[in-house]
Amino acid sequence: MAASSKSSGKPTPMMEQYLALKREAEGSLLFYRMGDFFELFFDDAKIAADILDIALTSRGEHGGEPVAMCGVPVHSAEGYLARLIKAGQRVAIAEQVETPDEAKARAKREGKPSSKVLVARDIVRFVTAGTLTEEALLEPRRANLLVAVCEVRGTLGFASCDISTGSMVLEECEPSLLGATLARLGPSEVVMPEDFEHSLEDAATQARSLFASDEGAERLKALHGVSTLDGFGEFTRPMLAAAGGLIAYLTHVGRGELPFLLPPSSRAGALGMAMDEATRTSLEILETSGGGRAGSLVATLDRCSSGAGSRLLAQDLSAPLLDQLAIEDRLALVQFWLGRPIERANLRDCLRALPDFGRALGRIVAGRGSPRDLGQVRDGLGEAARLHDWLSSEADRPALLDLLLPELTGHGALIDQLSRALVASPPTERSNGGFIAEGYDASLDELRQMSGNARRAIAAMEARYREETGISSLKIKHNGVLGYFIEVPSRHADTLMAPDSGFTHRQTMKGAVRFNSLTLHEEASRVSEAGGRALALEEAHFGELTGVVAQAREAIAATAAALARIDVSAGNAERASEGDWARPEISESGALNIVGGRHPVVEAALAKAGERFVANDCKLSGDDRLWLIGGPNMGGKSTFLRQNALIALMAQAGCFVPATSAHIGLVDRLFSRVGASDNLARGRSTFMVEMVETAAILSQATSQSLVILDEVGRGTSTYDGLALAWAVVEAVHSRIECRCLFATHYHELSRLAETCEQLSLHHVRAREWKGDLVLLHELAEGPADRSYGLAVAKLAGVPQGVIARASQVLEKLEAARNETGGLAAGLGELPLFAAAAASAPAETSEEALARRLKEADLDALSPREALDLLYDLKNGLD
Ligand code: ADP
Repeated sequence: MAASSKSSGKPTPMMEQYLALKREAEGSLLFYRMGDFFELFFDDAKIAADILDIALTSRGEHGGEPVAMCGVPVHSAEGYLARLIKAGQRVAIAEQVETPDEAKARAKREGKPSSKVLVARDIVRFVTAGTLTEEALLEPRRANLLVAVCEVRGTLGFASCDISTGSMVLEECEPSLLGATLARLGPSEVVMPEDFEHSLEDAATQARSLFASDEGAERLKALHGVSTLDGFGEFTRPMLAAAGGLIAYLTHVGRGELPFLLPPSSRAGALGMAMDEATRTSLEILETSGGGRAGSLVATLDRCSSGAGSRLLAQDLSAPLLDQLAIEDRLALVQFWLGRPIERANLRDCLRALPDFGRALGRIVAGRGSPRDLGQVRDGLGEAARLHDWLSSEADRPALLDLLLPELTGHGALIDQLSRALVASPPTERSNGGFIAEGYDASLDELRQMSGNARRAIAAMEARYREETGISSLKIKHNGVLGYFIEVPSRHADTLMAPDSGFTHRQTMKGAVRFNSLTLHEEASRVSEAGGRALALEEAHFGELTGVVAQAREAIAATAAALARIDVSAGNAERASEGDWARPEISESGALNIVGGRHPVVEAALAKAGERFVANDCKLSGDDRLWLIGGPNMGGKSTFLRQNALIALMAQAGCFVPATSAHIGLVDRLFSRVGASDNLARGRSTFMVEMVETAAILSQATSQSLVILDEVGRGTSTYDGLALAWAVVEAVHSRIECRCLFATHYHELSRLAETCEQLSLHHVRAREWKGDLVLLHELAEGPADRSYGLAVAKLAGVPQGVIARASQVLEKLEAARNETGGLAAGLGELPLFAAAAASAPAETSEEALARRLKEADLDALSPREALDLLYDLKNGLD
């Protein structure tokens, strides 16, 4: 940047403009438009160069320091933006908002020398993770949520929206459920008041005054043109305050333009199965603990044909229902498709070909739509209408389908208009026109014909000029600077240079000379005038068509949502038929009775390796509702625990389940805990994490909940861990009285069966066969007979010497325990491992000699080496 002259240190006008924009951009990186590039300066440049791995240069200086700089080409900016956003950055885009000519004219008006004037630039929008609409920046199978959160008199309000589809949901909860709610929503970006009490990493902040409930309600009413919000649902103050904050943030990001928002709905009353963050993480619902989608529950289940379907499935699994009728409705629709394999295949083909027109609509309403987006809305609505006609003729339709069918139609006039107006595959770029179909507008057709005629006239002119001048290499060409011109090689230029030739000289190039002629000029003006008017006409039609689409946005969004629901049900049916899954029976019985249950993800992984998954039953009910599960490590305890939690979750999300049969008494809250997971990254010790998470269960679980605890207590020394595990089991059993599966390697816990009536003992089976351990992955009743720890260690490849030593230690421990009954009594009598190893009898010198002789490879020795060895051995004897 021509930053400042060295002597004065006074910033140049451009630097002043940059710094002013940068201040306006607040915490965002500033993309500063210069010609065909977006440039970044100072720290912005360093951050961006690092993330994008592009060259960092410098330009001029500011305050005595060189100014760091990097840039990205405008035409490929989207890809770079995507990477910056992914890395957690926000970007402000500063465009030139006038042309250099306009800038000069302005300078003239202001009486300034035109050489000094700078093209005006302004921030036209902010690009942030939660406010993306561009197809290239969005993941097709993931919703993209922006969530605003704030607190009003001790209650948290949440407003979440996905502006790529326009959905908006308001809800509230107690502050203790902040983490759980955010975990369920899974936002791409969070915005909160500056002084929000609860710390949230990476959240955007804005003034508290923007989170005002009155203002929020007014903005919503104005947005949807209603005088009361009652028609949309019941909204509390915290919800409306959050909505106010959300709308304020969207207005800021869009520089005054609001994106597409549907009327809000309230989640109050539509309460689902509650799950906190730890539970979601440990069940790997949408992502694995490693962070990817592959290997998660949703990836294993997803057979949706459209991105919108996949997004809805993820939403279903994140928020399973608690309303039996609603669950049955979803299941009935899955069953409907399951029984119609041919129709299902047809439907899935149709849906696969469908454009993601919900997102196209989002772009159109946000003012960032393209002719292609209009085409997608046309195609999507047309397909929806065809599906409607087909599905309405199907017999025995389930209630949910009947509810969805009317949403698929009603767009006849719009489809008709878009079909007439647009060419078959409209382009993304509209500045070159060509997207309005022939026959839609007679005056446009006429203009196109005029410019076509003129073009043809120009082509004919070329032939005529060649003939008249006798120059066969004469050409009529076109470029952006000169427009149309006549070009001949230099050696023929004289003919055309003659004063009476009818040609006027325009430009001399190396090897060629360019001319104009009056007739060419006339035809060329016709082309450009007709072309310019045609473009303007197309632009006007574009504006009108987007207006019509925006007008119908709510109905179009409803159509997209109905198609997504149908897609999810057909996808679930497909998955159920692949895996021979069962329709779960739902009730309020308080039982969990699963026969032949499997873990969908582990089963799929094993199948890939050609291995079989062993199905297991789980039968929890009133008088036997806490299962304590022992058995060797790697025996299948964790898998069993999780599969049952997942089956309950899937059932309440309206999916079929991997089991022979499943009876699910509705689960109000699901808790899953894994002991001693390596969670040091969060700055708390693993044991602390384990205890904080366990404490949450003890305070939140109800008798309708399902709790799975995997080796809780493992994160600390044996006595503490055992004592805590013991106390937790007792509390779950006798105070909370909910269904629970508890896996543990503490033998001692089996004593609990003596005092806890509704607790029973189970174990995963294993057998030792010819000294090797065989894990059967089969659940059986009764306590584990022994832990097989050493056999598992052997299986894991621990060296034989260590195993042998461990056997010695174990023998002593067990002997001591038999004497005293104490867990680790007798440890004091044991010499340490190292000391014991040292006290093992040493070799005698004869034994050493014999060993060395045995080890020597005589064939490999040279005569000289053999002699040396002999000397050595003799010395050894001495
Ligand atoms: P544990 O919790 O007892 O240490 P896991 O549940 O982690 O054991 O299971 C260890 C491995 O055993 C799994 O990764 C899986 O490959 C296999 N496994 C578990 N359960 C089964 C099963 N029911 N059928 C077949 N293989 C299983």
